[in-house]
Amino acid sequence: MSRVFNFSAGPAVLPEEVLRKAAEEMMDYHGSGQSVMEMSHRSKVYDAIIKEAEADLRELMGIPDEYKVLFLQGGASTQFAMIPMNLMKNKKADFIVTGQWAKKAWQEASKYGDAKKIASSEDRTFCYIPDCSDLPVREDADYVYICQNNTIYGTKYKELPNTKGKLLVSDISSMFLSEPMDVSAYGLVYGGVQKNVGPAGVTIVIIREDLITDEPLPGTPTMLTYKTHADADSLYNTPPCYNIYICGLVFKWLKEMGGLTVMKSRNEEKAKILYDFLDSSRLFKGTVDKEYRSLMNVPFITGDDELNARFVKEAEAAGFVNLKGHRSVGGMRASIYNAMPKEGVEKLVEFMQEFEKGNSHV
Ligand SMILES: *Cc1c(COP(=O)(O)O)cnc(C)c1O
Repeated sequence: MSRVFNFSAGPAVLPEEVLRKAAEEMMDYHGSGQSVMEMSHRSKVYDAIIKEAEADLRELMGIPDEYKVLFLQGGASTQFAMIPMNLMKNKKADFIVTGQWAKKAWQEASKYGDAKKIASSEDRTFCYIPDCSDLPVREDADYVYICQNNTIYGTKYKELPNTKGKLLVSDISSMFLSEPMDVSAYGLVYGGVQKNVGPAGVTIVIIREDLITDEPLPGTPTMLTYKTHADADSLYNTPPCYNIYICGLVFKWLKEMGGLTVMKSRNEEKAKILYDFLDSSRLFKGTVDKEYRSLMNVPFITGDDELNARFVKEAEAAGFVNLKGHRSVGGMRASIYNAMPKEGVEKLVEFMQEFEKGNSHV
């Protein structure tokens, strides 16, 4: 068996311990004689899996009792519609657009009401987070929406925006469980798990209970109503059973690692290795304003498209895969999620140093 260092933005690297455990339990989960993939979602044994996953997530993130945790399908993109359908009571929401995902959420919400862009960093290709200390948040806005870590551009909010008392809704897909967060600062936080948590197919929504309404916008499908899933503890219909089980194994792994405070310092340490190199390199450079750098997604360039392409190709041959930047920005991007070992980042930097030496004439 030979594993590569996988810098994919998502679906992304998972902890080897988790993959091994899943392999061990594949044919016979805890003496049940079945794989988790084959089980009824109404069985006692599966019920214990999903309940334990939720309990571990609550413990890891310190989720207050008055918040519901929902395991849903449809990816983060479905939330772009589900959020306005359920939260847009006044049909008004304010958006801070810091990248493609926030922009898509804003555009989708416009189908359901008056979605207003109140700030944007598009003027400089989303390489920073705008000042959010005094934005024109509307008096009657139902919520303020952000994407807290911008997977494609590699930026992250240093502090949460001043929402002037309005609810904050945040897409945390690519920073989920990368560091501790205060859930009580939000009305709703959510993310697709395929970035930093588990296999594609699960979206976790953490929503304050009083926001769960039985009167979403008229015409909202049953499946897109939070209350449907909240009332049924995410078992209204067949959930993505196996993928939730893998998320549960990742939660256990994170607990064993010491929890989110430990993950944060590990992630800071890894990111520093890469950013320090980028800051000292003559060939490579980071593309993001320093104070808004993401801990998870690190875009960089050489300034020469042909050289970028050659770097990606040679890196792949050397066992560093998925380093090509997002198709909308080009260049390179290293996603260094929780499951990327420090060794992977150190080896990548060594490889970049060698590449730089070999191309010093450029
Ligand atoms: C990947 C990503 C999405 C889209 O996720 P899907 O599950 O593919 O719909 C949305 N927001 C952020 C921040 C992402 O990184």
